[in-house]
This record gives sequence, structure tokens and C-alpha cells, in this order.
Amino acid sequence: MIIGAMNDPKKNVAEEIALFGEMGFDYFELTIEAPCAHPDKLMKEKKEVQDALSSYNFGVLAHMPWYFSVAHPYPPIQEAINGEFCRAFDAAVEFGAKKATLHSEFLPSGIQERQVHVAKTIENVGKLCKEAEARGLELLVENFNASSFSIKDFKQLFSEVDIGMTLDVGHAFTSDGEGLENYLAQFRKRVKHVHLHDNDRRTDQHLPLGAGKMDVARAVKELKAFYDGTITLEVHSHDRDYLRISREKLEMMWYGRKKFEENREYLQPGKKV
Ligand SMILES: [Zn+2]
Repeated sequence: MIIGAMNDPKKNVAEEIALFGEMGFDYFELTIEAPCAHPDKLMKEKKEVQDALSSYNFGVLAHMPWYFSVAHPYPPIQEAINGEFCRAFDAAVEFGAKKATLHSEFLPSGIQERQVHVAKTIENVGKLCKEAEARGLELLVENFNASSFSIKDFKQLFSEVDIGMTLDVGHAFTSDGEGLENYLAQFRKRVKHVHLHDNDRRTDQHLPLGAGKMDVARAVKELKAFYDGTITLEVHSHDRDYLRISREKLEMMWYGRKKFEENREYLQPGKKV
């Protein structure tokens, strides 16, 4: 298991990388979003970003703007959004990403009939999958909640499109999230990447681990039973220290205190935990 952190798109990307590097994260998840991580801006700052990545030996995963529709009711608007997805895929490849995550549709499904919403999502995700593949990127689809795209909808998607999943544990724990165990019962084999953060089990708060009501230790145990890949801590606290604390908590839960302390002693001899 390796642990990553995601940039706040309102902040300078190279500075975000340096912050996570100093905190000892293992890789960087680049969310390609306005205003500071828009594709044009990234291309302008390409050298600084690449230098920061290589100085911390960071691999990169890409993340698409969470608010980009994948099943917009107006086809010309969806086409324009797909164009922007492709620009983001191009930018992701420039920084060496091999996987990119996009969210399920975020517009309320009441805007168009459920069947239409689901069919459009499946058709468009299939299209975007091909666009990503042509660039050497593997596209992953992330769960948000049942109103956005339910477990039943995901089942239909996976029966028609061969695509992996980014399992967002925090999202699964919200009141409309359908529960981690239900996702795991169905899609274990699809999980290629994980997002982890805490909440009050009602809304999507992206809290530090332990600051909400999620049984984080149990979630970690469930993950560890079948998964040993990338876990990005999507903790959106204003005080970034909570990212470091969340990382320590995750490592402690994953490895147990003894192994955690041995790992720390190996990496930072003499430093008290
Ligand atoms: Zn997420």
C-alpha cells in the first residue's frame, strides 16, 4: 500500500508537491482543475512541476474536475466538456500519469429521466475510456452517491464497459452512499485506486481520519483484506497538518503500531512519533 495526497486546485501545484514531499507522501494525485491546475496553467509551469515531482521521486495519478458532467442533457455542452476532458488527459500524460479518475455524473438525476441519465453516462464513459486509452491512460470511474450513480447503475456500467473503479470510501459512508460493504460485495475486482477521508456519515465533508464518525479502522481492515495499492487521502482541511496526521493514522491502522514505529525509525532515525 502506498499513500498519496491531492493538490488543492486553488494553490500553486509545485508548492503543493513540495508540501506533500516534505510530509513523506509516496505519490501525488494531480487534480487538473481551474484555477491553478488548469491544463494551460500546468503547461506554463511544466518545468517547475516536473522538477518538484522528480525531487521527491513522485509518481502521478490524475484526477478530473469533480464537477464535469459525464451525462449532460445538452449534447453540444457534453461535447465541449469531453473536449476539456481530453485536454486534461493530455496534461495528465505530460506528467507521466498512467491512471485518471473521473466522477460519476453530479447533476441531480431528476433533471432527466433516470434511464436516460444512466444510458448517457454509460455511453459517454465508454467514449472517454477510448480517448484515455488512445493516450496510454487507464480511465477509472469514482463512486459519489446513489443519486449520482448507484451500485445498480455501476453494475450496468461494468457489464457494458470494461473499466476500473476508484473506490471513494468516504463517499460510500455518506447517508446516500450505499455503504462500503455493499460496494465491496459487488466490485472488489474493479477497484484499482482508493480515496479515503472521514465524515459525519451524513454529508461529504472530506475530514481528517478520525475527525468524523466513520469507523476508519474497520474500513482499513476491509480494504487490507483484498487491496494493496494506492490510497489517496482526500482530506480537505484548511490546516494541512491534518493530512500528515491522517497519514500516520492510516499507516498505524494498516501496519499496526509496532511495524509503524519500525518503519518510522528506518526512515527517520531518532525522530519521536
Ligand atoms: Zn474522491
